[in-house]
Amino acid sequence: MSKNSPYLIVANWKMNPETEEKALHVAKALYGTMKQIKKSELVIAPPSVFLPSLRKLNKNKSLAAQNVFFEKNGSHTGEISAHMLHDIGVTHVIVGHSERRHMGETNGDIQKKILTALSQKLTPIVCVGEEYRDDKGEYLSFLKKQIEECFAGVPKTALSRIIIAYEPLWAIGKNAIREATPEECFETVVYIKKILADFYNHTQPKSLFLYGGSVNEKNALTFLVGGGVDGLLVGRVSLEPKKMEKLLLSIEGGK
Ligand code: PEP
Repeated sequence: MSKNSPYLIVANWKMNPETEEKALHVAKALYGTMKQIKKSELVIAPPSVFLPSLRKLNKNKSLAAQNVFFEKNGSHTGEISAHMLHDIGVTHVIVGHSERRHMGETNGDIQKKILTALSQKLTPIVCVGEEYRDDKGEYLSFLKKQIEECFAGVPKTALSRIIIAYEPLWAIGKNAIREATPEECFETVVYIKKILADFYNHTQPKSLFLYGGSVNEKNALTFLVGGGVDGLLVGRVSLEPKKMEKLLLSIEGGK
């Protein structure tokens, strides 16, 4: 993972599509598009039940899970360990997505998930972001606390193996107020980098940074050009092959 690599486009399918047949159909279309793409890499994050069939479909592509549990094994009904994900060829895992935080996941849980992912050589894609923006800038303290608690005990040397996705909650999903502007994205990513630099004794984090929140084929390039990020986390649009093709081609034309 390096800053000079192609842009990283993570397709977070969430709990979609409804069947394995449809999942394979979308994946085939996306991988087909990728044959003409040079400036981006695609990592699909399907529901976990579809991970083995996507792995089989294309053995060379990176593949992400949408969650991981922090224990190694034992009585944890419904959970999946980092070792299990690694064993079936998963390479990345999203941790701390706002939809999981909404279900009760805490910064402490996320911190343990980052460590467990790293221990199994999975690349954690750590989602951070404020719920809303207030005029007094209190959201900045919220972000600081979130980052400091999620990264507590995560060694400095691991930062280059971690991807950080800035996902403001107000910009995500069908209830989004609006997407962030590239300027808002840029400023916040600079702020996140500063928090991490302060946290790690003035070391600039070598992590890759993504933006996520209502990314589509019209705005994707604007975030990459003006948002100070190395890639994008795409939700809804990532299930629509035609829009994804336009999105990826817009990046080809623009870099
Ligand atoms: C997401 O859920 O991570 C996301 C970015 O969703 P959307 O692109 O649909 O806003």
